[in-house]
Amino acid sequence: MSSNAISTLSQPVHVARDQHPISRKDISPNALRVLYRLREGGYASYLVGGAVRDLLTGGQPKDYDVATDATPEQVKQLFRNCRLIGRRFRLAHVVYGREIIEVATFRANTDDGTGDRELEDGRLVRDNVYGTIEDDAVRRDFTANALYYTVEDFSVRDFVGGFEDVQNRVLRLIGDPETRYREDPVRMLRAIRLAAKLGFSIAPSAAEPIPRLAALLDGAASARLFDECLKMFLTGHAERSFLGLEAHGLLPALFPQATQALARAGEPTRAMVLAALESTDRRVAEERPVTPAFLLAALLWPAYTEEMQALLAQGLDPAVAQQRAADRVILHQAQRVALPRRFSLAMEEIWLLQARFGQRQRKRVFRLLAHPRFRAAYDFLELRAIQDPELQPEVEFWREAQIVPAEQLAEKLAPVRKGRKAVAEPDAPPVGDGSALAPVKKRRRRRRPRPAGSPET
Ligand code: ATP
Ligand code: MG
Repeated sequence: MSSNAISTLSQPVHVARDQHPISRKDISPNALRVLYRLREGGYASYLVGGAVRDLLTGGQPKDYDVATDATPEQVKQLFRNCRLIGRRFRLAHVVYGREIIEVATFRANTDDGTGDRELEDGRLVRDNVYGTIEDDAVRRDFTANALYYTVEDFSVRDFVGGFEDVQNRVLRLIGDPETRYREDPVRMLRAIRLAAKLGFSIAPSAAEPIPRLAALLDGAASARLFDECLKMFLTGHAERSFLGLEAHGLLPALFPQATQALARAGEPTRAMVLAALESTDRRVAEERPVTPAFLLAALLWPAYTEEMQALLAQGLDPAVAQQRAADRVILHQAQRVALPRRFSLAMEEIWLLQARFGQRQRKRVFRLLAHPRFRAAYDFLELRAIQDPELQPEVEFWREAQIVPAEQLAEKLAPVRKGRKAVAEPDAPPVGDGSALAPVKKRRRRRRPRPAGSPET
């Protein structure tokens, strides 16, 4: 029995072919194949969810979900290229090379898409049972996500008022918002993410409970939160997602330490984080590769520098303080949002390399330029210069260093001086470099006579 007895529209809306913009030529041929084959097999078949929503708003769906009254086993009998996945929550995947069309049987009850379910403290952890198309509609999250397109007459079927909401570009939860968020708190993040992605507003009724219920995200699986973060931050709408999280009080639920440190660090640091988000969005738009490591490095940077200052104040050696600060921030953050090791390692490297930009001895400069993570670290240095304009000469030096011929660069640089304590250990940053990182501005390094920018001509 479902906790939210949501009633559907008294009269389902049938949006006829000439009343909506969805055309078959915009739909993946493989999705159409699946829709037709199911129908020929005597089953109901609909395109549903994000794809219908995206097609209605002129977007390009990134994947296609099909809903049917055929059971997964019946679906399998219709398609040779079909495999059943999930044990308790059975789904059929129809596989065409790299494209997978997901076919799900109409289900009753709400579904958070995670697999196991049963209501526990209002949270959904129970197995689903098959149901009617109306049942299937009301278990979905937003009305805009519960529209069904059929090749029977090319109409859109609407049981919850989603068509009108899409016209008005508004995200509205199906049923009682607080109940639906309690069942699955990740829906709060989905609201922010989809609003950012689609440029939709969040209906006041759906927005109101979010700040009150934000803490429920503590109970969400960290791996699922990581997946949501990837979708929020690496698909071209990172800045809007961040601002949405901030505006609706969800930022501390995902990044507790970073949110606090960010608030303390003030406006220039926030500008740096926003610039990182913006540049990620730009890269996505240009179809260049993006990594969560860079973005997380920026987002968690204020927390890292704060930790490091505290450790330096305790008298720790800068190299040790850097490492320890990074470890602490990562450990803390990973308790909330899973942080796969390959990303946390990359992020840590970006941070630790910052200390080495102050070093200008010939050997060190060349070693840093050859570092596999140099480019990311340099891009990060550029970001930091937004927060701290004093870093501009460093940015210029390293920008030049990447383009001038090696011999020319070598001539301008002094060889490593022997006998200096920090030099004895090849990869340890010289004492004093840690201070260049933290908001404490004292830079004890001596500048070499004008290496930066001089090879300009
Ligand atoms: P996008 O693919 O653009 O990220 P989407 O809406 O397609 O957005 P999916 O995660 O692919 O998101 O989910 C497909 C559909 O499944 C949704 O449109 C919605 O109908 C339903 N759904 C997904 N997550 C939930 C949830 N947490 N609660 C209820 N329904 C959900
Ligand atoms: Mg989808």
